[in-house]
Amino acid sequence: MRACYWIVLVVSAAVGCSGAPPPPPDPLDGQMVFVDTLTRKTFLRQPTDELPAVHPESGKRTLMPGLYCAKCQAWYPSPPLEVRQREPKSLRCPKTGELMTPHGPPPENG
Ligand SMILES: [Zn+2]
Repeated sequence: MRACYWIVLVVSAAVGCSGAPPPPPDPLDGQMVFVDTLTRKTFLRQPTDELPAVHPESGKRTLMPGLYCAKCQAWYPSPPLEVRQREPKSLRCPKTGELMTPHGPPPENG
C-alpha cells in the first residue's frame, strides 16, 4: 500500500517536470475585444480588417474594436479610423478623458 503511494507520487512528479514550460498565457487567446456600438456589450472575436465586424447574434455590422479605459475599467467601442486620424481626442475615454488602449483584461461577459 505504501509502495503504491510512492510510485504514484514519483510518476506524477516526473510528468509535472517533463516537457517545455508552457508559453505565457495570452489572456485573449489570440482574439481581440470588440464592443457593440449599439449595446456596448463586449465580445471576443478573431481580429478582422472588415469593420464594423458582424455581431454574432444580430448578424449586423455593429462591432468595433474595443478600447480599454484603465480608469473606468471598461471597454468602449473604437471610433472609425478616419475619426481617429482626424481627432486624436477620440482615443480618450468619453467619461474620464483617460487615454484608452486596445489592450486590457478580457471582458467578463465576452
Ligand atoms: Zn474612463
